Amino acid sequence: MKIFKDIKELQKELVPYEKQGLSVALVPTMGYLHEGHLSLIKAARSENDKVIVSIFVNPMQFGANEDLDKYPRDLKRDSKLCEENGVDILFCPTVEQMYPQNFSSYVDMDNITNNLCGASRQGHFRGVCTVLTKLFNITKANKAYFGQKDAQQCAVVKQMVRDLNINIDIIICPIVREDDNLAKSSRNVYLNDDERKAALCLSKALFIAKTMLDNGEKYSQKIKDAMIKEIQKEKLARIDYVSLVNPHTMQDLDEIKDEVLVALAVFIGKTRLIDNFLKGCI
Ligand code: AMP
Repeated sequence: MKIFKDIKELQKELVPYEKQGLSVALVPTMGYLHEGHLSLIKAARSENDKVIVSIFVNPMQFGANEDLDKYPRDLKRDSKLCEENGVDILFCPTVEQMYPQNFSSYVDMDNITNNLCGASRQGHFRGVCTVLTKLFNITKANKAYFGQKDAQQCAVVKQMVRDLNINIDIIICPIVREDDNLAKSSRNVYLNDDERKAALCLSKALFIAKTMLDNGEKYSQKIKDAMIKEIQKEKLARIDYVSLVNPHTMQDLDEIKDEVLVALAVFIGKTRLIDNFLKGCI
């Protein structure tokens, strides 16, 4: 496995890939890798000639009061995991490489970013879209792999590549969970023992939603009320949002017909966790 910090050096390395017509996969991450990330890497490995993993804690997608400075980092461990999982190239640029002085171009979106995480994290998706556009352009990857864990990000990226005619296939992989159903996340390391137990209220609330939907419940408000009631049993939990939305547009649904994304963000202590459940297919 080769490791690159420099954009130009990475691009030099990629020239023969293009000449030989090799299929290239990109797995964009912020590092501190866990089984969720590894599932994307494994999918990318099985479907492509070359796999690039990027690790970049992108300052542009963090708000002023968020956890940019304390976001967990362990490049040594991450590179070992990448190597063990057959990654060809690890790209971990510096902030200066990605956003040199005078950087002034951004990719922004309307509508689909107005709800859910886009509503509670101002500027988040502008940062996500900008960095992903850069990574897509730098690597010229044929496919990029994302996790359903970040459901809105999946919809946003799909819309962005459609809108801007970016020539890349977006592959979505299922959510990987701990044995007790907590969705794996780099941010789970912030949780102390009590918070770790409290964090199960997210998956419990989703299970309630799933059961109600399976039993034919059509009204979002009823499902939301039941989810909120479950989460409020947990003293350490504070709800950011509980929403039932159209999985493509992220707009709220009052009545459910066929497809629905049930998504929630909940603070457990100071840690903001997200999770979701998708009914129907995208
Ligand atoms: P992050 O490092 O948190 O930015 O995540 C990088 C990629 O891994 C994103 O596409 C995430 O959706 C995906 N990911 C994170 N956690 C999980 C998980 N538990 N299951 C599946 N994919 C995940």
